[in-house]
Amino acid sequence: MIKVCKFGGTSMATAESINSVANIIASDKDRRFVVVSAAGKRFKSDEKITDILYACHKEAAEIGVCKSFVKVKDRYDTLKKELGLSIDLEPIYNEIEYRITKETLPDYAASRGEYLSALLIAEKLNYEFIDAETIIKFSDDGTFDAEYTNDIASMLLKDKNNAVIPGFYGAMPNGQIRVFSRGGSDVSGAIVARAVNADVYENWTDVNGFMMADPRIVENPKNIKTLSYKELRELAYMGANVLHPESIFPLKAAGIPINIKNTFEPDNKGTMIMPKTNGNGSEVITGIAGTKGFTAIFIEKSMMNNELGFCRKLLSCIEQLGINIEHMPTGIDTTSVVIHDAELEGKLDILLERIEDAVHPDNIEVFKNLALVATVGHGMSYKAGTAGRLFSALAKSKVNIRMIDQGSSELNIIIGVECADYERAIKAIYEEFVK
Ligand code: ADP
Ligand code: ASP
Ligand code: MG
Repeated sequence: MIKVCKFGGTSMATAESINSVANIIASDKDRRFVVVSAAGKRFKSDEKITDILYACHKEAAEIGVCKSFVKVKDRYDTLKKELGLSIDLEPIYNEIEYRITKETLPDYAASRGEYLSALLIAEKLNYEFIDAETIIKFSDDGTFDAEYTNDIASMLLKDKNNAVIPGFYGAMPNGQIRVFSRGGSDVSGAIVARAVNADVYENWTDVNGFMMADPRIVENPKNIKTLSYKELRELAYMGANVLHPESIFPLKAAGIPINIKNTFEPDNKGTMIMPKTNGNGSEVITGIAGTKGFTAIFIEKSMMNNELGFCRKLLSCIEQLGINIEHMPTGIDTTSVVIHDAELEGKLDILLERIEDAVHPDNIEVFKNLALVATVGHGMSYKAGTAGRLFSALAKSKVNIRMIDQGSSELNIIIGVECADYERAIKAIYEEFVK
């Protein structure tokens, strides 16, 4: 049996948490491949190493020296000392500091937290260190090359008894370091799990698995015992950041299950994520997730549905500006597009002008400060009246619904609400469905 274990930032933050990691690994000989994050926060107001490293890159670009690098050294020197390790970090720090000042992109700097964590853990566990740049490969255009990576990674890892691999980054064909989006060590862990054909991908974090809602919004939410790949994808994409939404792809083909576990409560079973499940036990819904920061553009035009090419013209305006859309709920004479604010930055006015010119709408309105909330679960499709319950719970809590999109999966009802109502909406849905 092979288990791949990924440990997140909080698990890497202190000598005490790293000792817990070491105990977890020692307690099961199948835990042969370990993927680690950079050290995270030790307390609420603390800084994540990755954030400091992004700041280092910025300082190097602006003033030629990375003033903040001393904070990175301090953190890892303390860990090394408290863990009683002998690795000589000085020459490594010198090289990192030098290279940060030479690189034009922030990726190299950002990746060094994972690199340093992995060096320390490898010594602590007495496992081989394998640099992610040798097994995780990106193309020239910076996109992740899944198949090439899998070929190389499986070849290089096949005869290894054990290894520690830094998460979050890999390399482009010219050797330049490239990182995934934030939280990407989850993806690295999934890639390693696929490459070694693991029996399970254990993702160790600081909570007892996936909860039915964000624990920062709902007090003590119920734990989700089992989750299907599809439900995970919807919840993670919609904002449940326990697991990076792209973690699922490397595991899908081989059907490798994911077990979300808590480093600080290792006996808790956590959440099992499997290719298919029949819903969350007796619960109607499996979970609720959401994100703030969207804008909706509402377009009204009489007889729009008879106008050949209307949607194509509208979508072309958006595509030509390189903007991605999230949702497009459509009525008879109305349609709306929901777009993440980051996509629209500096482009909203020109987009509205182009839409006016292309489709001559009767009316066009923009709603900013929108939050999306997704209620997810296979169980919803078997139970009549789920949508009715959802909407009356929101009405009772005086949440104004700006947009509804049920999609075609029967797995997910997405609503758009004003950002100010976001937390209230999640609490109302939770209270209605979860007992
Ligand atoms: P790691 O550093 O281990 O990768 P993350 O901070 O990325 O950990 O993810 C774990 C955090 O996700 C939890 O501490 C919790 O605050 C947050 N979170 C958001 N939504 C949920 C949810 N539905 N269930 C559990 N945790 C959630
Ligand atoms: N250290 C990176 C981040 O903070 C990657 C990760 O932790 O998964 O986003
Ligand atoms: Mg994470």
